[in-house]
Amino acid sequence: MTPSLLAHRGPETPAFTGRLGEIYAKMARVVPAMEWPFFAPDVAAITELKRQRNAIVLAHNYQTPEIYHGVADIVGDSLALARAAAKTKAEAILLAGVHFMAETAKLLNPGKTVLIPDPKAGCSLAASITGADVRLLRERYPGVPVVTYVNTSAEVKAESDICCTSGNAVAVVESLGAPKVIFLPDEYLALNVAKQTAVEIVAWKGHCEVHERFTAADIRGFRESHPDVIVLAHPECPPEVIAEADFTGSTAGMSDYVATRRPKRVVLVTECSMSDNLAAEHPEVDFVRPCNLCPHMKRITLAKIRRSLETMRHEVTIEPAVAARARQAVERMLAVGRR
Ligand code: SF4
Repeated sequence: MTPSLLAHRGPETPAFTGRLGEIYAKMARVVPAMEWPFFAPDVAAITELKRQRNAIVLAHNYQTPEIYHGVADIVGDSLALARAAAKTKAEAILLAGVHFMAETAKLLNPGKTVLIPDPKAGCSLAASITGADVRLLRERYPGVPVVTYVNTSAEVKAESDICCTSGNAVAVVESLGAPKVIFLPDEYLALNVAKQTAVEIVAWKGHCEVHERFTAADIRGFRESHPDVIVLAHPECPPEVIAEADFTGSTAGMSDYVATRRPKRVVLVTECSMSDNLAAEHPEVDFVRPCNLCPHMKRITLAKIRRSLETMRHEVTIEPAVAARARQAVERMLAVGRR
């Protein structure tokens, strides 16, 4: 890099002063100063586009720090984003996350424009099951209610009685008052729920391609190299991983654990960016960083968010008859949270 370019990116430049400087301060622990001048123009443009379009950006916990801390209005897990989508007064919602999250936002805001910056941002769990699969399960288990994880398409939600997230799965299952439920599509989350309730669970064999790769040996390795480490695992991890963890919870649950208990050293057994985003907020905590990236989440970039708000593409649409039934399943879930 030439000296003039280095000088151009120095701390006195616009990227490090005023509002942009304040935004950078939120992520300075995890985004090197050298990289910020590349992100800052997109952050400035997105901030202005949000104002012009009366739009908000909802970002999942697995988004990279320059998105999560730089342009998001609301951050959180699937449940938090669904709740925020249900309440917003903005005219447009941009979902910095994967496609099923944008669909959920659209279900709860049928009259609003919902954008996904890259429509190919999918999910291995959502891809593991179709509406036809759910209908076949209903034939096989007549009268047994279907609980569907929000990580599914609107078509699958439409075939379900109620949705859930990893944060409220046990409460949702028990809310039905049934002795047996079909729980779709994450097999490991289903096993994890089954351990916490007397309700009999019928599972499907869907897996998250990020969490299924963690092993019990990984956890033992973290403990050998960092004997004081506290291990927090996501319930989409295999049961042997959960058995080795100190705490199991959704991304919101992990975030709360770190914020309230302030462990000296922690490892989050989940997607990489979650640790980066929390590390930016908790300088006193040492984060050991195992790294399994979600390729779908990483399709979303600042440049794509900017382009999406400039062009108002890609707009999420759902066939009205499917949307009406899927919406019921999501709204029933949100009602459980309010009880
Ligand atoms: S982390 Fe797993 S569950 Fe989440 S979007 Fe990626 S593949 Fe789907």
